[in-house]
Amino acid sequence: MNDVILTLNAGSSSIKFAAYRVESENLTALATGLVDGIGGAATFSVTLTGGRADKRAIAGSGPVDHKAALAAVIGWLNQSQQDCRIAAIGHRVVHGGPDFAKPILIDDLRLAQLRDLTPLAPLHQPHNLAGVDAARHAFPDATQVACFDTAFHRSHPFIADTFALPRQYYDQGIRRYGFHGLSYEFITKRLRTVAPELAAGRVIIAHLGNGASMCALREGKSISSTMGFTALDGLPMGTRCGQLDPGVVLYLITQKGMTPESVSDLLYNDCGLKGMSGLSNDMRVLADSASPRVREALQYFVARIRHELGGLAADLGGVDAIVFTGGIGEHSWSTRQAVLRGMEWLGIQLDDSANERGEQTISTPQSTTRVFVLPTDEERMIAEHTAAIAQSSGRLEHYRP
Ligand code: ADP
Repeated sequence: MNDVILTLNAGSSSIKFAAYRVESENLTALATGLVDGIGGAATFSVTLTGGRADKRAIAGSGPVDHKAALAAVIGWLNQSQQDCRIAAIGHRVVHGGPDFAKPILIDDLRLAQLRDLTPLAPLHQPHNLAGVDAARHAFPDATQVACFDTAFHRSHPFIADTFALPRQYYDQGIRRYGFHGLSYEFITKRLRTVAPELAAGRVIIAHLGNGASMCALREGKSISSTMGFTALDGLPMGTRCGQLDPGVVLYLITQKGMTPESVSDLLYNDCGLKGMSGLSNDMRVLADSASPRVREALQYFVARIRHELGGLAADLGGVDAIVFTGGIGEHSWSTRQAVLRGMEWLGIQLDDSANERGEQTISTPQSTTRVFVLPTDEERMIAEHTAAIAQSSGRLEHYRP
């Protein structure tokens, strides 16, 4: 019997999953997949490590819910990975609140605590927890672990964690939590392998995907990040606005008659690259367009990244290494070039041809700040945390990473 770790990232209309076989010293990726269209006619797709892919509709009489979506994942696992036991399931949970600074074993008490955090992330936490409910129901004997997007940032000093509101609001939990923590943690680990001396220094990571944020790290610990109370703050994103004067929200509600729900919908779903360009949230589509609005949207995106780069470098008192990651950070050489152009004052000398080729190191040997492109893997980070917790709770005795 092979032990398998399953990771689940349950959103409102999709569940992303990945499966890993537990070897004695490491985790071997078996497959990644997606159930999309939850709440309606859903599809199941999976890509096996090594390439083979499969996609099909999920048959059923009515709309597919999280439980039925997970049943499709289980059905696939049982069919394709015979002789395996789901030893543990790692869940991506967006919010760990002010207290959870690392992943946790989920039991009834912990689950209740995570439900209490729902007001902090009402659009995401309930769906994450629906995935936990479905998984606990399907695998009552498996170790269930919650991994938080916020946990990595709990090393922030007070001034990077607070807003300039009266102190009672901080005490009520209105803080800069920061997100994308699993990606930052994975990249920090990778950087320790790629450039250990730099990983111990002052590092800025730019996670540029559909969601986008940046993080400043000293000695591998987050000291500041661009996302705040919610995943709306900081950089403009695929469909989210990024930094915004709170007066705009007040104006839309009091003067334009918008409801809080419609403002929420606007800020999460119709702003950022999509809203500004009027075309798409997809960088590949935008990069091919000559429309002046698209150009302005891309210039704004780049300008905000440069602005935050300067700010985070000031927080750190200089920067030894910069890492680009996420779909755009990993693949869009033109975005990286635009961000780093004219940044010699920060010690950055870009190697243009290495950048265009998408090499791992894209700074010149003379550059005092080294610049890297490192692919992120949040699923693996979740799987590693989950395996470690399962191992320490006696579930995976043969796993000794
Ligand atoms: P998510 O935040 O949903 O995980 P990703 O990290 O997958 O998002 O990033 C999605 C973004 O990456 C999209 O804007 C997409 O256009 C962009 N992207 C993916 N591949 C490329 C590419 N080859 N060139 C430019 N942009 C790319």
